[in-house]
Amino acid sequence: MKKVKLIGTLDYGKYRYPKNHPLKIPRVSLLLRFLDAMNLIDEKELIKSRPATKEELLLFHTEDYINTLMEAERCQCVPKGAREKYNIGGYENPVSYAMFTGSSLATGSTVQAIEEFLKGNVAFNPAGGMHHAFKSRANGFCYINDPAVGIEYLRKKGFKRILYIDLDAHHCDGVQEAFYDTDQVFVLSLHQSPEYAFPFEKGFLEEIGEGKGKGYNLNIPLPKGLNDNEFLFALEKSLEIVKEVFEPEVYLLQLGTDPLLEDYLSKFNLSNVAFLKAFNIVREVFGEGVYLGGGGYHPYALARAWTLIWCELSGREVPEKLNNKAKELLKSIDFEEFDDEVDRSYMLETLKDPWRGGEVRKEVKDTLEKAKASS
Ligand SMILES: [Zn+2]
Repeated sequence: MKKVKLIGTLDYGKYRYPKNHPLKIPRVSLLLRFLDAMNLIDEKELIKSRPATKEELLLFHTEDYINTLMEAERCQCVPKGAREKYNIGGYENPVSYAMFTGSSLATGSTVQAIEEFLKGNVAFNPAGGMHHAFKSRANGFCYINDPAVGIEYLRKKGFKRILYIDLDAHHCDGVQEAFYDTDQVFVLSLHQSPEYAFPFEKGFLEEIGEGKGKGYNLNIPLPKGLNDNEFLFALEKSLEIVKEVFEPEVYLLQLGTDPLLEDYLSKFNLSNVAFLKAFNIVREVFGEGVYLGGGGYHPYALARAWTLIWCELSGREVPEKLNNKAKELLKSIDFEEFDDEVDRSYMLETLKDPWRGGEVRKEVKDTLEKAKASS
């Protein structure tokens, strides 16, 4: 029988980003504590994260880059020339124990999740989905691109049709670049338009792959204020397009929680029930896949959304209310709302958001029409 596993460890709490960074918040360790507080996970469902081996990291990254990450972390300094060459040591990709130890753990966990999938099980690695890192350059808070390592791991195992779906609010520029010229990997990303959001340079509809990879990259850039109906409309239409041209043997799904309304690093307005619905729509179309985390900068929103994903995967009923232990846990996090005018107290009461629907705007429909025409 299919087993359902969560890959994680409380150790992530020790490998955090520095204090002024959006990723300084607890994320995987918070999710594990939250699930435990809500009695939503058994010990036997948890697989302890292990670090990636050097060999696994080199499936995608260059040796010099990996050595530099290790050296920077060891000395807690920026090695000479590394800031320019590898984009490390600035505000975006600072020196901390997240840069190698934390990232390597997240990447090992993605390989573990793939190994579970290959055994016929289903696994979720919430630490995964660091989709911005390039082969030899840190980018967008990401140092090691675990989805790219995971995809290369699958290719090494002989897989020839791998689908990568990215629901994070930001375009997956690192993953796109890694597989832009191959027809073995189809990359689909729904995200905030680069006209107004990171990574600015990439993520446009016109980027459809090159050489053999032409037609195997699909970007769906979306407008500010995206509502639940628009997101699911865009997802369903884009999955139809993918299905026309690609029959995957396996897929990886990146589940960054930053498209949620509460997340202050994105301008989308989604509810976590639409996020959950999106997860189920992908599974209805392609069956079970390998599930990864991603961005997400509001700790309450992240813990609630990934809890819904976990409940769905593990066949649990979603409890309506947070219990006191879970409430106290959230309250104990060192996190302040940027806008203290808004009332987010509902996040301490219920797990599910109300539906945040609305009209599907013409620009969203037009984008999907154009995507279909260009595929
Ligand atoms: Zn993001």
